[in-house]
Amino acid sequence: MPYTKPIPEPDPLGQPFWEGAKSGKLMLPRCTSCNRVHWYPRHICPHCHAREIEWIEASGEGRIHTFAVQHRAFGGWADETPFVTAYIDLNEGDRMFTVLRGVDATKPETIKIGAPVKVEFEAASDDVSIAFWRVVEG
Ligand SMILES: [Zn+2]
Repeated sequence: MPYTKPIPEPDPLGQPFWEGAKSGKLMLPRCTSCNRVHWYPRHICPHCHAREIEWIEASGEGRIHTFAVQHRAFGGWADETPFVTAYIDLNEGDRMFTVLRGVDATKPETIKIGAPVKVEFEAASDDVSIAFWRVVEG
């Protein structure tokens, strides 16, 4: 089935993330000065302002920080409503925005803050795979 949603255009700064995503790996930038992970990719560490950034393969695990049910959307997402967007607390630190999978958007009372999630990747094109997070049994 063709991918009908918007496809991000990878930039050089985030290239390790996109390369990892193609092979099912979650790559995150980490500062070698303070050893903290940050998301999204930046030239300068947002925690200590150092410029020494490396990339690590993350566990691909985290927990729901917060979520919202989306009842209106446009373009390729319009057919998906209602769906759930969420911020994920990454096990390595910092947060990532996602469309949450493995939940029932019509029963938001069943979605729990703090629930464990795992990353998964969906190929949007030959070059771009997109990270989504799925609730797993805790
Ligand atoms: Zn730092």
